[in-house]
Amino acid sequence: MQHFCIGQPCLNFLVKLSPQMTVMNKYRVLSLLIAVILLFHTPAYGQMSVMVSIAPQKYFVQQICKDFVEVQVMVPPGANPATYEPKPRQMAAIARTRIYFSIGVPFEYIWLKKIAAANPDMAVVPTDQGIQKLPMAAGHHHEGAKQLDHGTLDPHIWLSPPLVRSQARTILNAMQAADPGHRSVYESNFKAFMAQVANLDAELKRIFSGSTGQRFMVFHPSWGYFAQAYGLTQIPIEIEGKEPKPAQLRELIERARQDGIQFIFVQPQFSARSARVIAGEIGAQVVIADPLAEDWTANLRTVARKFETALR
Ligand SMILES: [Zn+2]
Repeated sequence: MQHFCIGQPCLNFLVKLSPQMTVMNKYRVLSLLIAVILLFHTPAYGQMSVMVSIAPQKYFVQQICKDFVEVQVMVPPGANPATYEPKPRQMAAIARTRIYFSIGVPFEYIWLKKIAAANPDMAVVPTDQGIQKLPMAAGHHHEGAKQLDHGTLDPHIWLSPPLVRSQARTILNAMQAADPGHRSVYESNFKAFMAQVANLDAELKRIFSGSTGQRFMVFHPSWGYFAQAYGLTQIPIEIEGKEPKPAQLRELIERARQDGIQFIFVQPQFSARSARVIAGEIGAQVVIADPLAEDWTANLRTVARKFETALR
């Protein structure tokens, strides 16, 4: 946001006043002047404060809003968006937040009402609105979501470039409504971001063009929408949000052996224990594919290259 420099007019005013002023009064006016300048030059001045649930959303908001907003992420790096509990200092920060962009990750089922109640003036914008969600991979539920009847739909919509278009449009609309003075800047930033997403989508389509129907094995099934967008199939290890039992583990090892699996993907937010057991049995490698990295574009590119090597 533009800030105007009030230093020069104030100095002129002070110079005009000087003949009639005592030294003491000049000091008073000068210190007041310094205080006002500091206030107007604080970096956060004029930035709208918004909050998002997960780091990739921070990237989306920043593409559209650049320096006009300060974005806070509720679920910190390494924490699990299925089970996260906001810290008291995060709940306190909500008092200064203008917009909360939710996305439908499972901790929201329990916390979003409390987050909204912590600041009645804050807009809560569900960026998953208008998106047709897929059922979770067979037999899979998100822990914590089961009792609430939400666990049957897959929340990982930020990992599909076509679905990110819709989420970005929702963010754009909310920002234009909250800050109409910058409508056209948001609009042109949005268009630039859509071009970036279209490039990435085209690149991923090229990478996977000859791989339709091929499989990759993951611990937690985060990549369902990604797989759908590029014609791939993910094989999850997790069963109903839990590590597989010994009999299920034996079945998975058999399946992985038959499928010729050479790589098993894990993410930093979940234990890699059963992935390592399977990998050890069939001589495969355990590889990280992070669904929650903040640099969304670069990360999807990196993950796509890893999947490309692993497809069977
Ligand atoms: Zn998940």
